[in-house]
Amino acid sequence: MIEDKKVVEINFVLKNSQGEELDKSDENKPLVYLHGTQQIVPGLEKELVGLQVGDKKNVEVPPAQGYGEVDTKLHIKTERSFFPKDVNLVKGMDFSEDTGEGKNQKFTVIKLEGDHVFLDGNHPLAGQTLHFDVEVVAIRDATAEEMEHGHAHGEGGHHH
Ligand code: ZN
Repeated sequence: MIEDKKVVEINFVLKNSQGEELDKSDENKPLVYLHGTQQIVPGLEKELVGLQVGDKKNVEVPPAQGYGEVDTKLHIKTERSFFPKDVNLVKGMDFSEDTGEGKNQKFTVIKLEGDHVFLDGNHPLAGQTLHFDVEVVAIRDATAEEMEHGHAHGEGGHHH
């Protein structure tokens, strides 16, 4: 049964509210995660508690329990001159910026217009209601080492 301290393997398909497929696990290569460590979005994690191997579930996750609401403060208009000269800015490129609080904020270039560069620091799936189709493939106890590291090891997991 899925609960904290279990290493869980799931097949999943993620769709938005329009039914468009956004992401899915690779065929024959389930997503492996350590339950209870927020490696998957909170709204999905809590809905998987109690499931057994072979169980299937549709889970709808509102933005606040997924990748967050869109934060317009993270829509930023800046100047090309802000960037190093050797950087070739193109739409869709992303980069991390130190916010000064020891946290790295990822920004994506969404538009280039004259000398202006428009950036978005929101997760690409912010503001979206997420629709997951999940199938539980395997469940096992986490090892002491996995609990210490906070992630799953082995096939599909973290390699050191
Ligand atoms: Zn590790």
